[in-house]
Amino acid sequence: MRRLAPGRLILASHNAGKLREFTALLAPHGMELASAGELGLPEPAETGTSFTQNACIKALAAAGAAQLPALADDSGLAVAALGGAPGVHTADWAMRPDGTRDYAAAMARIAVEDGSARRRCAFIAVLVLAWPDGHTEAFEGRCEGHWVQPPRGLQGFGYDPMFIPDGAALTFGEMSAAEKAQHSHRARAFAALAQGCLTPA
Ligand code: IMP
Repeated sequence: MRRLAPGRLILASHNAGKLREFTALLAPHGMELASAGELGLPEPAETGTSFTQNACIKALAAAGAAQLPALADDSGLAVAALGGAPGVHTADWAMRPDGTRDYAAAMARIAVEDGSARRRCAFIAVLVLAWPDGHTEAFEGRCEGHWVQPPRGLQGFGYDPMFIPDGAALTFGEMSAAEKAQHSHRARAFAALAQGCLTPA
């Protein structure tokens, strides 16, 4: 497995919520994070059919454009009663015709389409590190739980207010960033990435 030298790393994302979480996760590892959004890098079309394919597309595009190592996160919510949907289409479910996002509507749609009593779902994140020479390393993290309606809490981002991880009583939207990181798919994938590729904290 290739290790990442301390220094500048591009986050291949325009998502402010992901940037906040990765800035906190990377701080102890001597990495200086700059996001594709801040650098004005274009967002490639996410044409893959899996989280891993989409994360590779984003990481390789950013590493190539910036000529620096890049980290991408492709993530989403998999609802058991919906056969894993919305999955790679999680962001699309929140898209309005004018291109802005409506997460209240997306969360309401999950509740309407999942008629099950158990409301089981999982957040999944695949992180891909890519280097300008085209080398990649991928890591997956998963957080099992259930959804609630109406959504609760104003912390976090996206679908956080409707998701309660197993073993907790609060939604991600009601947790501090540090509490969310004790459970989250992203923090779990990051722990594997840190062990494989980063200088110890
Ligand atoms: P992506 O940016 O294409 O990976 O889309 C990810 C989608 O899943 C977006 O709609 C996010 O809001 C949602 N999502 C991913 N991770 C989380 C999370 O930790 N909390 C809430 N929503 C998330």
